[in-house]
Amino acid sequence: MTAGLTTKTVKEILVDIDKCTGCRACEMACSAYHATPRYSSINPSKARIRVVCDEINDEYVPIRAGDYTPSECNGRHIYTIGGKQYSECSFCGASCPSRDYFVEPDSGLPLKCDMCESVPALEVPMCVKVCGAEALTYVEREVKREEKEQVKRGEIEIGLESLVKKHGVQAVIETMAQISKGLKP
Ligand code: SF4
Ligand code: SF4
Repeated sequence: MTAGLTTKTVKEILVDIDKCTGCRACEMACSAYHATPRYSSINPSKARIRVVCDEINDEYVPIRAGDYTPSECNGRHIYTIGGKQYSECSFCGASCPSRDYFVEPDSGLPLKCDMCESVPALEVPMCVKVCGAEALTYVEREVKREEKEQVKRGEIEIGLESLVKKHGVQAVIETMAQISKGLKP
């Protein structure tokens, strides 16, 4: 097996909230880059990054849009930053039915950060490029595929083990057989 088949490049944006000034240039650049045609408009409500701003406490947290989820969370987090509590959905990157973050205002379609994938590829994503405060840093790292597969196997084992404990091995086998029958073309 060649090295190319065993590794995968993971692209990440590191966020240093201590450096973020809340200028929101990242929102503007992201929306301009994703406008149709490209750069034809600037509308931060269409950006795939949002800066949670708390001017009084001088706290600014850039959040990138993640996956759409069709249902609300059952449990929510409460964060304490600089003595102030931020509750519920403040720092969540998902678009979901319970708030209008990361939803395309015209169509209602969910928005997701695509790392500014394009051909030819950008050197760094737009939000990183325009961040003069250097609060955003683009990094690439290689991840071994085998490691990822091991993690996946581990997750499946844990899930199956808990089902077997709860329902018994026979019930799990029968259910798996029924599901696989349903998946056949
Ligand atoms: S461009 Fe940089 S400093 Fe400005 S809001 Fe975005 S992350 Fe913060
Ligand atoms: S990486 Fe690109 S798509 Fe993602 S938030 Fe930054 S500018 Fe927007």
